[in-house]
This record gives sequence, C-alpha cells and structure tokens, in this order.
Amino acid sequence: MKITEKFVMVLGYGSTLSFLFIHIIMYHVFKLNNVTPMVRLNVFSIVFYSVMLFVVYKRWNTFYSIAVYIEVLVHMTMAIVLTGWDSGFQISIIGMSILLFNSEYLGRVHNMTRVRMMPMGIVGMICYLGSYIWLSFHPAKYRLSDIAVFKFNVFWGMAVFLIVLFVMQIFVNITTSHEEGLNYMLSHDKLTDLPNRYFISAYLEHLVKENKISDSWIAIVDIDNFKQVNDTYGHNCGDYVLRKVADVIKISKEYVPCRWGGEEFVLVGNTAADMEHINYLLDDLRAAMLRTNFTYEGQKLDITITIGLEKYEGDLTVDNWIKRADDKLYRGKQSGKNVLIS
Ligand code: GH3
Ligand code: MG
Ligand code: MG
Repeated sequence: MKITEKFVMVLGYGSTLSFLFIHIIMYHVFKLNNVTPMVRLNVFSIVFYSVMLFVVYKRWNTFYSIAVYIEVLVHMTMAIVLTGWDSGFQISIIGMSILLFNSEYLGRVHNMTRVRMMPMGIVGMICYLGSYIWLSFHPAKYRLSDIAVFKFNVFWGMAVFLIVLFVMQIFVNITTSHEEGLNYMLSHDKLTDLPNRYFISAYLEHLVKENKISDSWIAIVDIDNFKQVNDTYGHNCGDYVLRKVADVIKISKEYVPCRWGGEEFVLVGNTAADMEHINYLLDDLRAAMLRTNFTYEGQKLDITITIGLEKYEGDLTVDNWIKRADDKLYRGKQSGKNVLIS
C-alpha cells in the first residue's frame, strides 16, 4: 500500500470538512440546550475550521495537526466540564490521539513534519483525567437534554470506533506491504530481478530440512568471456547481457534460479525427474543463448554459457555439492566453453 501525497491531501480536506460539519451540529445542539459558552466556542470553531481548509491547501501539516488537536482538546474539555461526564465528549479525546499519530506518520512519510506528537497525546490524557477529577469536586453547571446526551454518546462512540478501526487497518496494510517490499529487496537481485544468493541458500536449507534434498540437482551457469564484453563494449553493455541472460533463464519453471554473483547463476531443481530429462533441459538452455538475439546499441553480440550440473548424492554437504558442480563448470571452461558438463 502506497500513501501518496494526494491521499494525505484528501484526508486533510475530508477531516477538516467533517470537523466543520460536526461543529455546526454542536452549535445547534448547544443552542437548543442553552449552553451559552459552548455556543460561543462553536462559532469560533466554525471560523477556525474554515481557516484550516486554507492551511490544508498550503500543506502546513505540522501547524495543522497541532492547532486542530489543541482546538479539540479545549473544546472537549470545556464540553465535559460544563455539561458533565455523562454527555460522553471525553471519548473524542481518545479518538483524536489516534488521529494525531496518524497525522505524524503521514507527515513524516512526505517530509511535511518531523514533530513528535507524543507530548500532545499526553496533554490529551491530562485533559481527559483532569476533567474527570474536576467534575468529582465541581458538578457541571449545565445539563443537556436526555435525547442530546443519547445522541452525543452514540455519535462519539461510532466516530471514535471508526477512527480506531480505519487508522489501525491502514497501519496494518502499510506495515505488511513494507515488510513484503523489504523481503523482496533482501532476497532479489536488483539488476536481473532474479532471486539472489541469500534466497537460494535459504531454499537449499529448506530442502535439507524437509528431506527433499535427495531428489535435487544443482547447476552453475557462467557466461563465457564476459569480461571481454565489459572491456570491449562497456559496463552498461555487460549489464544488458546479464539482464537478457537472466530473462532466458527465467523462462523455464522446472528449477529455481538465482544470480549467484557476478556473471554466475545457480539453478536448483527439485523435480525428481530423470537425469536424461535434466540434461536435455539444460542443454536446451545453453542452445537458447545461441538463438537469443543480443544486440546492444546496434552491436550484435555472440553470448554463450557453460554449465556444470551435479545431482545430489549420498550425504553430501551443500558446500561440497556446489563445489562438485563448480568443478564441472571449470572442466567445461577448460574444454572450450559453451558446453554442459554433467
Ligand atoms: P570465463 O569465460 O572463463 O567465465 O571468463 P569471464 O570473462 O566470463 O570471467 P571473469 O571471472 O574473468 O570475469 C567476470 C567479469 O564479470 C568481471 C567483472 O567485472 C564482471 N562483472 C561482475 N559483476 C558484474 C555486473 O554486475 N555488471 C557488469 N557489467 N559486469 C560484472
Ligand atoms: Mg564467465
Ligand atoms: Mg565466473
């Protein structure tokens, strides 16, 4: 999940308009119930949120978050103190703390703010507890009608739950997708987009653990005279060849391929197929390189590969198994390259 700047802006306008709407309703309810100080405060709040639309437009994120949070704290603390704990305004302070951290996160992602919101959240807690303690010693001066108390409690309950559920879901999605992204980066090679050495080592360990290693084979694929490609046509051309060779390797689904390092690739098969078939498969891969058109900046290149294949046998260690495949690759290089040695 990607949090775009547009998403942050839409969220900014959406929440400001919602706050504006809520304050217009509260203005009417307080007026109906003759809670004069709250009526006045709501006139201020309506003007305040109209100005905040401009603040969102200007992307003054830090100022926005702090100003809105202070407005809500003042507003709600006064509402609790003046109309009593039963009116249910206090729960909105909890909902706002969640929004506060959401706003810190979104601001950080887009480099709009670096301010930590934790101290503000603690002020919120003090207002919540402080107004409760205050009410224990000073009874509320005003009393809302039963129907107003009922509606406010239902509204704030619903609003705060929606905020908690919505924000938490966003965070779960963000965390999961970031973890997936990081795992992919850790286990894949950037140039060829093939799994990397780290990935294939983990895969081999998995085969050992699951007792599937005895059916497996390993092949080391090495591009012939690759240094010469780099030296003659440049490093970018070398990169192009690596990507294209990787693309050809990726075509078959009969093995798990990886970029082992440099211009070497390791393929691991776990198909329990007979060696004749595997030989055929890998020799076809070798021949496929000859058929592939490698042309870089108008220059046609003849690219070949040498392959060393080793089936798992007895109780070889993974290191020895790879070494045996590597020895065969070496023999292939000695015998003139562009061959499969099995
Ligand atoms: P052989 O046929 O015996 O395999 O010879 P070779 O030239 O292919 O092998 P050698 O080991 O001499 O050279 C490998 C070269 O691969 C050297 C190194 O600069 C180059 N190389 C390694 N990684 C990369 C890369 O990511 N991009 C490019 N362009 N070159 C790379
Ligand atoms: Mg090579
Ligand atoms: Mg090599």
